[in-house]
Amino acid sequence: MGLLALGTALEWPEAKKKAHQVRQWGIEQLLANWRRAKGKERDALLWGDEVEYLVVALDDAAKKSRLSLAQAEILKSLARDEALWKAGSCKNNEDNGHDGEEPPHFHPEFGRFMLEATPGRPWGIGFKDLLKVESNMKWRREVAKAHMAPNECPITLTTFPRLGTKDDYIQPYYAPSGPALRSQFVPDQIANPHIRFPTLAANIRSRRGRKVELNVPVFKDTNTPTPFKDPTVNYDLYNWPEDADVRNGAAKVDHVYMDAMAFGMGSCCLQITFQAKNMTEGRRLYDQLSPLGPILLALTAATPIYKGFLVDTDVRWNQIGGAVDDRTPEELGEAPLENDRWRIPKSRYASNSTYISQDPRLRKEYFDPDLVVDEDIKKRLMDGGMDELLATHFAHLFIRDPLVIFSEDLEELDLNKADHFENLQSTNWQHMRFKPPPPDKDDVGWRVEFRSMEIQITDFENAAFSIFIVLITRAILSFDLNFYIPIQRTTENMETAHARNAIHDRKFYFRKDPFPRRMPKSTQPSNGSAFSSTTSSAVNTPPPSPPLGPVETEYELMTISDIVNGCADGSFPGLIPLVESYLNSVNVDVETRCFLASYLDLIRKRADGTLWTGARWIREFVAKHPRYQHDSVVSEEICYDLVKAVEEMTAQEGRHGSVGWELLRGKRN
Ligand code: ADP
Ligand code: MG
Ligand code: MG
Ligand code: MG
Ligand code: MG
Ligand code: MG
Repeated sequence: MGLLALGTALEWPEAKKKAHQVRQWGIEQLLANWRRAKGKERDALLWGDEVEYLVVALDDAAKKSRLSLAQAEILKSLARDEALWKAGSCKNNEDNGHDGEEPPHFHPEFGRFMLEATPGRPWGIGFKDLLKVESNMKWRREVAKAHMAPNECPITLTTFPRLGTKDDYIQPYYAPSGPALRSQFVPDQIANPHIRFPTLAANIRSRRGRKVELNVPVFKDTNTPTPFKDPTVNYDLYNWPEDADVRNGAAKVDHVYMDAMAFGMGSCCLQITFQAKNMTEGRRLYDQLSPLGPILLALTAATPIYKGFLVDTDVRWNQIGGAVDDRTPEELGEAPLENDRWRIPKSRYASNSTYISQDPRLRKEYFDPDLVVDEDIKKRLMDGGMDELLATHFAHLFIRDPLVIFSEDLEELDLNKADHFENLQSTNWQHMRFKPPPPDKDDVGWRVEFRSMEIQITDFENAAFSIFIVLITRAILSFDLNFYIPIQRTTENMETAHARNAIHDRKFYFRKDPFPRRMPKSTQPSNGSAFSSTTSSAVNTPPPSPPLGPVETEYELMTISDIVNGCADGSFPGLIPLVESYLNSVNVDVETRCFLASYLDLIRKRADGTLWTGARWIREFVAKHPRYQHDSVVSEEICYDLVKAVEEMTAQEGRHGSVGWELLRGKRN
C-alpha cells in the first residue's frame, strides 16, 4: 500500500468537501516534481520485487487452519531485528549464504493477516543478481517465520480459501460486523488497524452509498445445486442500513457473494518495479509492458476458491476491483448524472487506460476513445509545461476523489513533498503504475511497476516470473520491441484472463509483428528457433518502413502458448524466443544461462500445458480430496489439508534448495 502517515482522518462527508483542494495541491506537487525530475538522466537500471504472504496458524490436533491476525506483533519483532542488523550487532549474513545481501524489508498490508516482503535493496542490472532472487525470496520466508509463533507460517496462496465463512477462520476470533466494513462475513478487525485502512474501507462504502459488491460465478460441479443460492448469505440482519443490500438484490444467483474490501485487498500478488535510465525510457516501458499484463495474469492464475466455494474464475483481479469500487450509482450509469461529474467505465482498481510514450509508433487508434479526463487538470498540467500525453494520463488518474485525507495535511501546501499527489496516485490501482521520483530522494529515478501477476505457491515460481519480466524488459529495450495494440483490447484481455483455465481455453489479442519496423522476409526469424544476435543489428538498421495498414491487421487472437512460445505459422516469434535471442546477444556465462533456463522452462511449459497453473493444482487437490462432495464446497478439513500441503511444499523447497519441485508437481501424465 502507499503512504502510512499519521493524523486525523476525515470521514467521507468531510473528506468529500476537501477533495478538490487535495487534487489541486496534488497536481501542483506533481508539476513541481516533474519540473525537477524530467531531465534526470542515467539513473541505474534497478528493479525490485514485492512478495505478499498470508500468515496462517495451524491447529494440527483439530485439523484447522486459520488466518493469524498477528501482523503488528510480527512486524514489530522484525523491525527490532532490522535495527540490530543496522547497528551492526546482528550475526553476519556469511553464515546463512546471503553474504553481501541486506536483510529483507517487511511491510504492512491491508489485511491484518498479511505481510509484504521486498529485497533489502533493489536488484541491479547484472545477471549475477538474477541468481540471488530465488534464494533471497526463500530467505524472506525463513526470516518471517522466525518471528512468528511456532504454529504460524507465511504462505503464498493468493486468498485464504475460507475467508468470510461462518467458522472461526481467524485467530483471535472476532465476530462480524463492525462499523467500518459493515460486512456480514468479516469483522472490522480483519483489516490493519492503522487509521488509514478502516478509513479507506469506510469512505469507499460511504462514497458508493452501499457496501461493495463482489459476485463470483460458482464452479458448478456434479452435486452443486442449480440454481445455486449462496447458503452463507443472511437476509435477516438489521444492524446497519447496509444490511438491506442483500434484500435489494446484491447477492446474485449462481454466484458467491462477498461484501467487504478484505475479500479483494486481502489477496496477495507479485509486483515488479523497474527503474528506467530516464523518463523517456520509463514511459516506453510503461507502454510496452501494458499489453503483457493480462497474459501474465493468465499465466500466474492461482485463485480458484472464495469463501469456501470453488468458483468458475481462476484469478483475483476483478475481485479486488470490486472490493475497492467507490463509484456512485451515477458514475456507474445506474442513475441519471445529476451530482457527479461523469460516468466512469472502470473501478479505480482496473487495467490501465492510457499510453504515455512519445513513440512515433503509438497510433491514435490505440487510445481508449472512452477515456475520462479532468480537462481543467489537464490544462493546468499543460500550462505548466507538461506534454499532452503525460498530462492526459495524470488528468485521467485525477478524475477520482482522494479517499483518506488527514486534516493536518491541509494547512499548508508543501511543493517539496508528494503527499497529495501520492494520495491519488496510490489509490489508482492500475495494472501498470508510472512512478515519478520521490522529491526528497535524489538517487531514485522514474520507475514503472508491473502489477497484474498473482503470487505463486513456491519461490521458484515467484523468482521465475520476476526474472521473466526482467528479461522481457531487457529484450524490449535492446530490440526496441513494439507490443502496441489498441488499449481496449488489453482491457478485454484482462476480462478473458479470468475464465477458468483461460491459459489454455481462451485466446488473447496480441500484436503479430513486435519488431520496430517491418523487415524484409529473409531477415525475419523463423519460428521457435532463437534467432541469432546478428538479427538484432538487422533490426537496428531497418529498411524504410512501408505505409501503415489498418490497425486491425496488426494484431490477432492468439493462445497463451502462441504468445509465449511462438506461433506455428511464424506470425509471432514468441516471448521466450525473444528473451532467448536477447540472451544470445549479450555475454552470459554457461552457468548463469543454465540457471535462467530452468526459469524460462517453467514459463514455456506452463504456457504449453505441460505444467499446471496454481489454480489448476488447487482445483485438482480439492477434487481428489476424500472428503470433497463434488458440491463446490471447500470444507474446513479440505482447507486445512490444502494449506498444509502448500506449507509443506515451500518447506521442502527451502530445505532442498531445489528448483525442480514445481516442475514435478503439476506434471500431467
Ligand atoms: P510500492 O509502492 O509498490 O509498495 P515500494 O516503494 O514498496 O513500492 O517498492 C517496490 C519495489 O521497488 C521493491 O521491490 C523495491 O526493492 C523496489 N525499489 C525500490 N527502489 C527502487 C528503485 N530506485 N528502482 C527500482 N526498484 C526499486
Ligand atoms: Mg503490497
Ligand atoms: Mg510495497
Ligand atoms: Mg503500493
Ligand atoms: Mg510501498
Ligand atoms: Mg507495489
